[in-house]
Amino acid sequence: MNEVLQLGSEYFSSQFSGAPDGLWSAPGRVNLIGEHTDYNDGFAFPIAIDKRTTVAARARADRLLRVTSSSFPGVVEVSLEDLDPDALTGWAAYPLGVAWAMARAAAGGASGGASRMSGVDLALTSDVPAGAGLSSSAAVECAVALALNDLWELGLDSQALARIGQLAENRVVGAPTGIMDQSASLLGEPDHGILLDCQNLLTETVALGFAVAGVGLLVIDTRTSHSHADGGYASRRRSCEDGARRLGVGSLRALGPDDLPRAAAQLDGQTYRRVRHIITENQRVLATVAALRASGAGAIGPFLDESHLSMRDDFEISTPELDLAVASAQELGAIGARMTGGGFGGAALALVRNDDAGKVAGGIARDFARARYTAPHIFPVTASEGARREL
Ligand code: ADP
Ligand code: MG
Repeated sequence: MNEVLQLGSEYFSSQFSGAPDGLWSAPGRVNLIGEHTDYNDGFAFPIAIDKRTTVAARARADRLLRVTSSSFPGVVEVSLEDLDPDALTGWAAYPLGVAWAMARAAAGGASGGASRMSGVDLALTSDVPAGAGLSSSAAVECAVALALNDLWELGLDSQALARIGQLAENRVVGAPTGIMDQSASLLGEPDHGILLDCQNLLTETVALGFAVAGVGLLVIDTRTSHSHADGGYASRRRSCEDGARRLGVGSLRALGPDDLPRAAAQLDGQTYRRVRHIITENQRVLATVAALRASGAGAIGPFLDESHLSMRDDFEISTPELDLAVASAQELGAIGARMTGGGFGGAALALVRNDDAGKVAGGIARDFARARYTAPHIFPVTASEGARREL
């Protein structure tokens, strides 16, 4: 057993005594490009990263769910009968929200799965930084969803599990997020990105070729906080829905660059800028994938850079810290850089030549110190395998 699994197993035993029935893990993700496009039925291109949340779990003879996390104090208990999406709060809303959503899916399914559902003890350990824009929330949701799917023998596929994670986050946590994070966490593959068409949930893994090209991704976690559940994210989502309605389409996915003049004529300036970000961001996702295939990783930098400008100026979800991280990385020779994740803080990413990684990281740290910003956490991430049963 490797060290991470050992830790997960020991943590379980320290909380619940005895050994778990199994261990499951799911990674965080970084979104290479395609931001706020998922809830507009658009395209996104995330990767699963080499940071994971592990859940050690054991079925119980009764109907009690107990959940604990090495990141938070205490054990939260609730019986399956009492799972109420409106009553779940705090960090436990993520794992228990998934249990609620799965119980609901099982009850609605043809398999009569609800009868097989027992109580479960769940212990979470993780090295995905929370609130950094790397989707620690999806890592929790997907690890727990996979564990319960096995223990309850529900036989749900990845698409169903992704929707369950999203439902937990939307309904229980109250964050109106799309399907990207869970899809990336479930479907990731080493050195591959996941091209996600959120209109029909079609996914395609696309080779990144980073190793061959001698390049890699640096994450710059600005350690400034964001919260999807509060205003900024929800108001951007509302603007997009409003724009789509006023332009007479079901979602902004239905629009392309040719529609921009009409959008400019019909919408107020702010809504127009929000709509323009989504339309152009969808194009950039497709252009990135095409450039990767035709010319390799060295060719995608301009799309990352343009994506950042669009988020900064049109979608207005960047922050001074994120802008500095991106500008520094670009000046220090990064192939491309952009803020990543929902915005309002969190992380930026830079695509760098491996030989330049130290110089870029050092330079960004210096620029942050000079600006008197909180020292960022800067670390490499590699595209890794999605959620899996470990033991
Ligand atoms: P992000 O997904 O970008 O990291 P979110 O605000 O969406 O940020 O989710 C972070 C929240 O997810 C945490 O505040 C916590 O409630 C929950 N969470 C993340 N990791 C864990 C963990 N290891 N154990 C328990 N809860 C976690
Ligand atoms: Mg999240």
